[in-house]
Amino acid sequence: MSDTFDLIVVGAGPGGYVAAIRGAQLGLKVAIVEREAKLGGTCLRVGCIPSKALLETSELYEKSGKHFEERGLRVKSLELDLAQMMKHKDGVIATLDGGIQGLLRKNKVERFVGHGRLKGGGIVEVSGDQPVTLTGKKILIATGSVSSSLPGISIDHDRVGTSTEALSWPEVPKHLVVIGAGVIGLELGTVWRRLGARVTVLEYLPRILPGIDEQVAAEAKKIFEKQGLVFRLGARVTSAAAKGQVCRVEVDGAEPIECDRVLVAVGRKPCTDQLGLEEAGVQIDKRGFIQVNSAYQTTAPGVYAIGDVIGGAMLAHKAEEEGVACIEKMVTGHGHINYAIIPAVVYTEPEIASAGANEDALKAAGVRYRSGKFAFAANGRARAAGHTDGFVKILADEATDRVLGVHIIGTHAGELIHEAAVAMQFGASSEDIARCCHAHPTLSESIKEAAMAVDKRAIHS
Ligand code: FAD
Ligand code: NAD
Repeated sequence: MSDTFDLIVVGAGPGGYVAAIRGAQLGLKVAIVEREAKLGGTCLRVGCIPSKALLETSELYEKSGKHFEERGLRVKSLELDLAQMMKHKDGVIATLDGGIQGLLRKNKVERFVGHGRLKGGGIVEVSGDQPVTLTGKKILIATGSVSSSLPGISIDHDRVGTSTEALSWPEVPKHLVVIGAGVIGLELGTVWRRLGARVTVLEYLPRILPGIDEQVAAEAKKIFEKQGLVFRLGARVTSAAAKGQVCRVEVDGAEPIECDRVLVAVGRKPCTDQLGLEEAGVQIDKRGFIQVNSAYQTTAPGVYAIGDVIGGAMLAHKAEEEGVACIEKMVTGHGHINYAIIPAVVYTEPEIASAGANEDALKAAGVRYRSGKFAFAANGRARAAGHTDGFVKILADEATDRVLGVHIIGTHAGELIHEAAVAMQFGASSEDIARCCHAHPTLSESIKEAAMAVDKRAIHS
């Protein structure tokens, strides 16, 4: 069987399926090739969505077990039903997969199930139960990323696993060792700590959450330690392996650690296995990411790439934005994405969120700036809700007052950050934010107060 399309998208993650829909909206005849039965990619199957379902449920469990009583709510005989918790998570994935299937149908995007391989000359071979050869005027690679590991670590996908396994463990580990204090390590470490595991996080660097504003990361470490996470910084893991039910983790210059589960969370790498890149003339860089120009064109004519597979921030919304921008540039010649203001959120409690530059980046670039900070402890709504940890920090250009970066650690930071992101997109100054009336009592008032603090005139601190 053979078929011809205007556009063939390989990979149906947030980058690929969104690009396919935008292509169809702009009048292209589009095919999408995905090797997994479910659509939505890493994000929906084994990433953003399942991790957030587990974070939400484990938070409810911890709150009702530990914090309801101080508010006068007594919960009798609270019990964890882990199997039901996983069933709920799987149900969320199934519903959203069905939603994407419906969207593709509605937009007349034709779906092919199987592994896609580029053959050059606009041809994509799809292997699987129903092999097919597709021809496309244009091809878009959106094959995403997979977990990385380290030399010396024997991932058995059971006792020593990646985030994929840690989203589905059948019982709560007694002692979980997490390798890497990045986003995955902290989100999934938090899930299992809340459910009762002792969690030790080993991090090579002298700090947690590289890339996040240093002051925010230091505050986060203090809070997570109070919650019970144990950090060992400057710990270079040299090996990890399981023998039966016991895992042994070796750290350079320290005693080995024994535990019953290991989560390896040391980053992700581009997914380009058996993709036929060489045959098609698509070049990759030293780290294996596909090289593209500003229109997302690879080195092979007619072949484009977006999302995790081209590097940069490995975030679902970055992949989506690139998917739309790539298609719009391809079809209309215009497409837009502001890489300076891609929000990043860590979904722990408190949440951590940022948009724009952090202090380290501004200092490194020699930019002179003023900073305004406001603590949630002084916010009425945060007090009423019992979430007083954290702060909002706004960085504004010293000369023009234009907002350059906003960093929040606090409850619902992941929702609050978008006021800042929108303001920055419109080129707002801290004075612009300070002059906007914010409803009382809301957490958002902390953003207004931080903006006023830039000019040293916050009212409530
Ligand atoms: P992917 O989502 O990886 O999709 C690529 C798809 O291509 C996959 O479905 C794969 O099966 C398919 N594929 C690969 N090769 C082929 C082939 N040859 N033929 C056919 N199909 C192929 N990001 C956030 O923004 N927020 C979060 O909260 C968040 N949480 C995360 C939690 C975890 C545990 C993990 C692992 C990641 C998380 N991420 C989060 C990152 C996010 O999942 C990725 O940035 C995002 O999924 C990248 O989208 P993508 O479309 O580029 O690739
Ligand atoms: P990461 O890059 O965030 O963190 C990896 C950590 O492992 C780093 O702190 C690194 O210093 C450490 N490390 C590396 N080698 C080590 C060693 N030998 N011993 C000890 N520590 C070592 O990567 P991740 O947490 O695996 O996440 C991967 C990607 O997935 C990230 O780019 C992230 O953007 C994305 N993600 C996003 C979200 C979100 O947006 N909420 C959630 C999960 C994942």
